Amino acid sequence: MADNKVLLRATDIDKQFGITHAVDHVSIDFYSHEIHALIGENGSGKSTFTNMLTGIYTLGGGTFALEDKTIFVKNQVSANRLGIAIIVQEMGTLSGLTVAENIFLGEEDPFIHNGVKNTAAMNKKAQDLLDSYGFSRIRANAIIDTYNFEDRKLVEIVKSTYFDPKVLVVDETTTALNHSGRVELFKHMRRLRDLGSCVIFISHDLDEVLEMSDRVSVLRDGEYIDTVNAKDVTTDDLKKLMVGRELGEHYYRTDYGEKIPEEVALKVENVSVGNEIHNVSFELHKGEILGIGGLSECGMHEVGKACFGASFDRTGSVTLADGTQINDINTAINHSIAYASKDRDNESLLINDSIMDNITLPSMRDMGKVLSIKKLHAFADKFAKEMSTKMVNVDQFVSELSGGNKQKVVLARWIGKGSDILILDSPTRGIDIKVKADIYALMDKMRKEGKSILMISEELPELMGMSDRILIMKEGEISGEFLRDPSITDTALIEKMI
Ligand code: ADP
Ligand code: MG
Repeated sequence: MADNKVLLRATDIDKQFGITHAVDHVSIDFYSHEIHALIGENGSGKSTFTNMLTGIYTLGGGTFALEDKTIFVKNQVSANRLGIAIIVQEMGTLSGLTVAENIFLGEEDPFIHNGVKNTAAMNKKAQDLLDSYGFSRIRANAIIDTYNFEDRKLVEIVKSTYFDPKVLVVDETTTALNHSGRVELFKHMRRLRDLGSCVIFISHDLDEVLEMSDRVSVLRDGEYIDTVNAKDVTTDDLKKLMVGRELGEHYYRTDYGEKIPEEVALKVENVSVGNEIHNVSFELHKGEILGIGGLSECGMHEVGKACFGASFDRTGSVTLADGTQINDINTAINHSIAYASKDRDNESLLINDSIMDNITLPSMRDMGKVLSIKKLHAFADKFAKEMSTKMVNVDQFVSELSGGNKQKVVLARWIGKGSDILILDSPTRGIDIKVKADIYALMDKMRKEGKSILMISEELPELMGMSDRILIMKEGEISGEFLRDPSITDTALIEKMI
């Protein structure tokens, strides 16, 4: 911090959703020239707080004052005009529009002369911006839908930073980005700080939080807990503030030397998919947690899809113990295979549907001919509660849930279905420690019940902490194998990845 001038003052900010007190009379001062992290477990109110600041939600109570003037933010465009921008947690670009139209949404005026929009000029300006961010690969005139979630996040980075906002909110954006995207985002966060802006940075990665921010504010169950200087604390201090108690020792599995059963649950032989993976072969045993790790582009995510019968142009075979060949998703689901995608919102969930619909989806055909709403309701309720999903009730839309609770809904679906083989791609991505611990405990329980888990993960501690065996992939091929052992190091795994 170059100085301690208050740029944005939040006073007594409040919001309730039905019975949920999402943000409970929170007051925080945000300074000029700072990156101010906002942390807290899933559902602690971070997104609700910043969504009120940026006009996505209406303000439930309290005031935001920017440079000593109370502001009234009607929507995101009006927020932008005031100099407040946000990169939202979910998808923040609009389908059906071009990349350029997304970047200049609500700001088209400079490109309109005598009522006619100069599309060429707008595309040119947008492309120049994209190029200057190092995103030349993304074309300004292309429809945004031609790009994946990660690329669309890059467009949002441009959209929300090019006009040098006074306040920039970055809500859980880093989990969606690969290394180079993150580097670019961090560069602009620092650039804005140097200009005198404040960046409100929401992230679950506490190392990243300490590396990037000047101060850190903590929310817990909607309440303000404390603000600390990043240089005075450790990640453990932050964890304690977030959960309000000492973390238990039993975060990951603690057993070593247990024998993996001989019995093979799933056999993968010579599986190739386009340029993504080449001749991948391995066996997943009954009662085993098999971890697959590597750099994000190594092909491991495609392996998960291939095992679920969800890849196009796959060769080779995926076979169950009884000889059943898995070549399509239907066969996979009917033969007790479950899959949770890395891209939770787009590939695992019906995001604009209820918790009930999401949980009952694959199980409906098992519930008999007469499907009453009551029956579906009871089924969903049972498994949502078994996962201790934080919700109002099962009629609530999954889009309203926090990341961790969305993942609980995905898992509840497959527990309800009674799946024996679970393919979990990045199961705890973007999820806070308490829900993470719940998911690890669940995986350990399932393993002991004889279920088999293929866990694809970009997190080394998770791979080492939870797997009976780890396969490392590099450039579409398996490059190393490690048996569960307390002496495995990060370095040993990384050596096989690069
Ligand atoms: P965080 O971003 O810290 O994970 P959120 O602000 O998303 O937390 O959520 C805080 C609480 O408010 C949660 O209990 C969540 O379920 C609830 N919530 C958030 N958005 C909505 C909404 N649109 N409708 C109902 N409840 C919501
Ligand atoms: Mg959030």
